[in-house]
Amino acid sequence: MNALELPGWRHVYSGKVRDLYVRDDEADERMLVVASDRVSAFDHVLSPGIPGKGELLTTLSLWWFDRLAGADGGPGIPNHLAADHELAGDDARSIIPAAVRGRAMVVRRLDMLPIECVVRGYLTGSGWAEYTAAGTVCGIPLPSGLRNGDRLPEPLFTPAFKAPVGEHDENITFERTAEIVGAADAAELRDLSLEVYRRAAAAAEARGLILADTKFEFGRDAEGVLRLADEVLTSDSSRYWDAEAWRTGTTPDERMASFDKQIVRDWLAAHWDKQGEPPELPADVIDRTRARYAELLERLTA
Ligand code: ATP
Ligand code: MG
Repeated sequence: MNALELPGWRHVYSGKVRDLYVRDDEADERMLVVASDRVSAFDHVLSPGIPGKGELLTTLSLWWFDRLAGADGGPGIPNHLAADHELAGDDARSIIPAAVRGRAMVVRRLDMLPIECVVRGYLTGSGWAEYTAAGTVCGIPLPSGLRNGDRLPEPLFTPAFKAPVGEHDENITFERTAEIVGAADAAELRDLSLEVYRRAAAAAEARGLILADTKFEFGRDAEGVLRLADEVLTSDSSRYWDAEAWRTGTTPDERMASFDKQIVRDWLAAHWDKQGEPPELPADVIDRTRARYAELLERLTA
């Protein structure tokens, strides 16, 4: 994956989905986060990409950041966007190169905490797998008799350790999180994650959507403020289901009619043994995923 050359910016890192750039001017602490159309599943970048996905994810992240900053009437959650901050330099939007406009965010470069802050309101995915094997999720015991897709008694903070590039993220207990980042930071991550999940789930519910689970990343700025970073509450980082289908559906597929990457995961799980390179995604999987991502944005923000 070749990152674009962008005037005024220097490429420093590419994750599975995003490319990061810093300013040519070393004194400028801002960073450009460019969401590509790449799609990843089971820790592999797949081919081909999903046209327009980078823009859909960026638009949705910006919408959520704005609501969580207080536009929804709740207390403001600090985030990493540089646009509204008094950082030195030009207006943030004017320095986004034309080639990536619509899929780029100008942010503060933060000291990221190596924890994927997962919150689960419903039981599915790796949580469901652990529950069927051990009756627990991230070591937290759950009542017996739950089905795939059931609502949990209360939302759970189920952190994962953010593995170095090329390795798999690993689900960990809250105690392990406290060992990694310290007890105070672990508690702050948990409390903030649960608060953001609850607010977002309520907003989604008002639009006929279930926010089944989601993943946040946080970092600290130079003043030590913990800020919500990366992408937020997108169809890449979250599972969204249609609330009506969940209520009336009888099979797992019907109940979890998803607006997220599940279409890709399901197709891959059926057509790949997770050995070697994953196969090319067929056109109809790309089209369906793109349509669902677009529909989610429409239903949430219309
Ligand atoms: P990996 O980090 O292992 O590459 P990934 O594939 O999820 O994981 P992407 O999401 O594609 O990576 O890339 C985004 C990267 O940018 C992540 O590593 C994320 O932690 C980092 N990041 C996001 N926001 C900020 C920020 N404000 N300051 C510094 N780093 C950030
Ligand atoms: Mg990421």
